[in-house]
Amino acid sequence: MSNPGDLADVLEWLRSAVVSSGRDYAYNSSDAWIFGVLVGWECEESHEHGPTCKAETLLSTLAKTHGWREDYVARLREHRAIVRAALEGPVRPNEEQTA
Ligand SMILES: [Zn+2]
Repeated sequence: MSNPGDLADVLEWLRSAVVSSGRDYAYNSSDAWIFGVLVGWECEESHEHGPTCKAETLLSTLAKTHGWREDYVARLREHRAIVRAALEGPVRPNEEQTA
């Protein structure tokens, strides 16, 4: 009934809905979790992170604000990675080490 492309379509639809809603997804904990999984709070560029991309800063701030434990943040990162992989499809070996 379904195929692998269907999940990516659903996730993209959800991601677009979150991004375009105008809602402050950082304000409460469950919203911040949803945004973190569907969109991500951290820089996801394939480069060496620096001060301009503020990698990890925003997620760390949210973790403190909402009292998220380290294992909770780790799970969010894992779930984000799964969603991102589903949206982007398989990564080719040549793309993994792009700096
Ligand atoms: Zn970065």
